Amino acid sequence: MAAVTTAAILLRAHPFSESSRVLRFYTRDLGLVGAIARGVRRGASRGRGAAGAFSEGVAVLAVRDNRDLQTLQEFAPAKLRFGLAQEFSRLAGASLAAELVLRHAGQEPHEELYRALSGGLDLLERVPSDAVTAELLALGWVIVQILGFEPELEACVACARPLEGGAMGWFDLEAGGVRGSCCRPPRGARRVGPLARKQLDRLLAGEAPPGLRGLRPHLSLLDDFTAFHMLGGRRLDSFRFLEPVDAGQQDAATED
Ligand SMILES: [Zn+2]
Repeated sequence: MAAVTTAAILLRAHPFSESSRVLRFYTRDLGLVGAIARGVRRGASRGRGAAGAFSEGVAVLAVRDNRDLQTLQEFAPAKLRFGLAQEFSRLAGASLAAELVLRHAGQEPHEELYRALSGGLDLLERVPSDAVTAELLALGWVIVQILGFEPELEACVACARPLEGGAMGWFDLEAGGVRGSCCRPPRGARRVGPLARKQLDRLLAGEAPPGLRGLRPHLSLLDDFTAFHMLGGRRLDSFRFLEPVDAGQQDAATED
């Protein structure tokens, strides 16, 4: 058994027994780790995992290779991120990110994913209210990209012709990308215009384009895409209650 000290983000915690909790961390050095924290529920040992979801700091874990649950020796959060719980859309973004990581990240370290998650949670907590939805979309899509589920935006998913810069297209959910006007649109597909394609491209790089338009269709695309390709058809409850905050822009569609 080796003690490993690593930067860690707490994604989820649940009670395990009278006095223990099971914590799921995304760590910089060990990837996804489940750990049992003993003696925390009596409130006596605050250093060992009494922290809340999305807090980040240094974890000391007693690690055995063949175990599903490691033992948490200490977790000292440097960031508590209480601000995430104060607005539903901030919390929804953080929960979405946590769920994607819990479902798809592995036990190998992935520096890029760690940085994207940590930086994205910081931004979600502190950007102004009217920028939260764009930030949530950027964090969601960059995780999709890093985990290897990136949608195809360069070439038609039906015939592989490169998509012209200014051309209208349709999002083919099943095929996981955009179909050009070269091919028949799939039934019920969303229209995706050149601007929306460019915006998606930036979101996939983790950038929230300033003044992002069409928040509602953007949210529903991320919701449909993650449900279909990453969550086995299950939808996150968070999406159902999300209302974009910038009222003037709600009706703009992704067809711009
Ligand atoms: Zn085509």
